[in-house]
Amino acid sequence: MAAQFMDSSKPQIANEHDLTEDMDVSYRVEQAPLLDICGLTVSIETQDGVITPVEDVALRVARKQTVALVGESGCGKSITAQSILRLLPQPPFRMEKGEIFFARLKDTPAIDLLKTNERTLREVRGGQIAMVFQDPMTSLNPVFRIGEQIVETIELHQGVSGQIARAQAIELLRRVGIAKPEQRVDAYPHELSGGMRQRAMIAMALSCHPKLLIADEPTTALDVTIQRQILDLLRSIQIESNMSLLLITHNLGVVAEIADYVYVMYAGRIVEHGDTTQVLANPMHPYTQGLLRCVPKINEKSGRLDTIPGTVPSPSSFPTGCRFHPRCELTARLAASTASGDGISRDSDRDSRSPSNLEAQPACLRRCALGDETSTAPPLRKLNTDHYVACWESENVTPLGNSASNAGTAG
Ligand code: SF4
Repeated sequence: MAAQFMDSSKPQIANEHDLTEDMDVSYRVEQAPLLDICGLTVSIETQDGVITPVEDVALRVARKQTVALVGESGCGKSITAQSILRLLPQPPFRMEKGEIFFARLKDTPAIDLLKTNERTLREVRGGQIAMVFQDPMTSLNPVFRIGEQIVETIELHQGVSGQIARAQAIELLRRVGIAKPEQRVDAYPHELSGGMRQRAMIAMALSCHPKLLIADEPTTALDVTIQRQILDLLRSIQIESNMSLLLITHNLGVVAEIADYVYVMYAGRIVEHGDTTQVLANPMHPYTQGLLRCVPKINEKSGRLDTIPGTVPSPSSFPTGCRFHPRCELTARLAASTASGDGISRDSDRDSRSPSNLEAQPACLRRCALGDETSTAPPLRKLNTDHYVACWESENVTPLGNSASNAGTAG
């Protein structure tokens, strides 16, 4: 799997937001990745006040690279993905902070998609960045034939029309593995199966040869065999077209199969990122470890699947300090071993993490729950060339063993 940005002749900028305004333009052009999200913070105005479901997210996608953004439902993955093309209605959404640089044209500085004008954004949408959503029925228009919808995109972005655009649509349907494309091009969405609809969505997304395809849970609504076919299709198209792929998923099996680089998101923040092989072989954030333990293992006989205790908090009540601390086994274990010296975690340790009990708790627990004098949340720290983790106690994380093989397969 490819490492992300390996040119050692330039300062390494794997995550920190050091593509600053005053940086030499030639450096930015030469080194800038295809997509570079810097410090993205998105909030929502609600009746009960402003909530911030995505905070200070930094993420990069290099050319021809497959990057996965993984986390449980409600972690902010889809909001991050939709922010890239400014698909979120404003209001109630607000882009509070950050930049989303996209290297639209060769040899010119990247544009900031959050600030660019509507005309440029329309050219980028579909033309250079395409998106595939989880449920194709919500994206395909039910009253138009599949072919008409693909032809419309081709006409809009490629300046061809009529029979030429229709021929291209048929060829695209053939390319994504739809049998008898000459007939299916005239089908309505409801006349196709779920897998075929997703293939048609991918065909539409590919119709303008995008540089970047964002696939938001593209296989979640499909059964396991079709999931595998769609993943294989995405992978082969990505290689053939030299396209970059940003894959949003909650499934680490999918990540292991397809991604070069992975970002793990929890409660609106990136908590770990790195080269996929490294992260899956040696996850160093307790949340990533928890996600990996939840993946079913083919050769293991034990009856019950592991779970991460608790649920993802709502953005209206994110915990202070490390947002994972109410669910974190490691901080409970450290607190218990500090208190009793026996290293055994107890259920009561989790209850003791309420703010009113913190003063009486060991320093490690206080830091996890409240932060320290430099930061409330643990900052991302570099572990090695292509691996970063946001955990105060990463030196106390016990390796999981051969987790890469444990990530299993898609589905
Ligand atoms: S910072 Fe503390 S609570 Fe957060 S993951 Fe690390 S050990 Fe757990």
